[in-house]
Amino acid sequence: MDYNWCHGPNCHTNKTQDRIRGVKGSKVLRTRKIPQNQWNKDSVWSVFCSQGCYTDFFYKYWREVIAIAPRLEALETPIEDPVRKQNDYGWFHTEIKAVDNA
Ligand SMILES: [Zn+2]
Repeated sequence: MDYNWCHGPNCHTNKTQDRIRGVKGSKVLRTRKIPQNQWNKDSVWSVFCSQGCYTDFFYKYWREVIAIAPRLEALETPIEDPVRKQNDYGWFHTEIKAVDNA
């Protein structure tokens, strides 16, 4: 089976039992290995073992990540004129519909 190492920069510092490796007197906490399967295929979960590791990676490398696809202008979604509506319980909400370009 194929594996990837978790890319979380602090993965190997989390004190969990499954990360313990090595022989007595020479133990380490090791980065988690992630088996590649149909559930994590082509997703971030093929290279991150947890939400925490995913977040740690982004906090460490966000500048580099943003440099790949910088947002230099705002994006806009055309919408129909918003309609204020009241439901059966008396609560108001604003119905916002994207313009159907299909
Ligand atoms: Zn991890």
